[in-house]
Amino acid sequence: MSALSQDLIKWYEIHQRNLPWRHTKDPYQIWLSEVILQQTRVDQGLPYFNKFVHAFPNIHALANASQQEVLSLWQGLGYYSRGRNLHATAQIISQNYDGRFPESYQGLLQLKGIGPYTAAAIASFAFDLPHAVVDGNVYRVLSRYFGIDLAINSTSGKKTFEKIAEEILDPKQAAQHNQAMMEFGALQCKPVSPNCEVCPLQLSCVAFSEGKVQQLPVKEKKVKVRPRFFVYHVVPNQQGYLAFEKRGAGDIWEGLYQFPLVELSSEEAQVAYLAHFDAAWRSAPFKHILTHQNIKAFFIRAPFAAEKKELEHYPFEEISSLPLPRLIDKFLEQHREDLTK
Ligand code: SF4
Repeated sequence: MSALSQDLIKWYEIHQRNLPWRHTKDPYQIWLSEVILQQTRVDQGLPYFNKFVHAFPNIHALANASQQEVLSLWQGLGYYSRGRNLHATAQIISQNYDGRFPESYQGLLQLKGIGPYTAAAIASFAFDLPHAVVDGNVYRVLSRYFGIDLAINSTSGKKTFEKIAEEILDPKQAAQHNQAMMEFGALQCKPVSPNCEVCPLQLSCVAFSEGKVQQLPVKEKKVKVRPRFFVYHVVPNQQGYLAFEKRGAGDIWEGLYQFPLVELSSEEAQVAYLAHFDAAWRSAPFKHILTHQNIKAFFIRAPFAAEKKELEHYPFEEISSLPLPRLIDKFLEQHREDLTK
């Protein structure tokens, strides 16, 4: 066992958080937790994990649910493609594998929506197989501990860090080692203000001894953020039912429902478009930030030229059962009363 692995596991035994997916060897629950926790903090993901396990206690239950049910439970977590992939993978495992996860790393990798990270997590946590999990926490710990300034999001950086992660893995305690490494990154060697003063790795940590903790890990510059300009038409029909359209494929929020939308090409175009509806009620602007997109949206109470859209009408009480993007949800939270008047 490497000294690093030994130190990490000792630290983990004392400091680990008590989380439900750490008390199970059920690959279904482990997979569920990993999918939910991608790009989501543990405190935010935990209630979603509990909701999913409660609603769908096993993979067949999840597979047999409708996509709408799954996306409704997923609502608020963002990255809806993960919710759709979760459902699709459940259906494949339920139908083609009789509900059993493949018990090998390569077998797991064959499944849609399961990449190297999730495959390693399930392989080690559920089946005790010696595969290193490499997530953002692990990149950070390795980069600082070994003083490596290769970009963690570059191809060569990824390869290097994955190789080191495999080398230091204790194959006899793969699950403990992986959990310890990730937890150490989440709680001790944090992105901002790592707790170096009371760190068990301090004496052998290169970044600490060279005063480079703040400079590591290195990341290549992010891709450009795309600005988008939305105007939603919130229009009740004669019965007071609100019009919705379902978002199509190839863009954000696929399969979710929204008020009929007009997307403008620029801020100026958005202002000019809104000027046509000067007399109508209009919301304050909503700013909604996604990883690669900044959306500025207005909601207006004005008729909409709907020739090319397929609209569905819902009474107000039924709206909460529709899978909605967080942006629409935010609007409804603020303007529920205006809409029921
Ligand atoms: S000394 Fe600081 S930078 Fe080094 S491993 Fe510990 S917490 Fe991370």
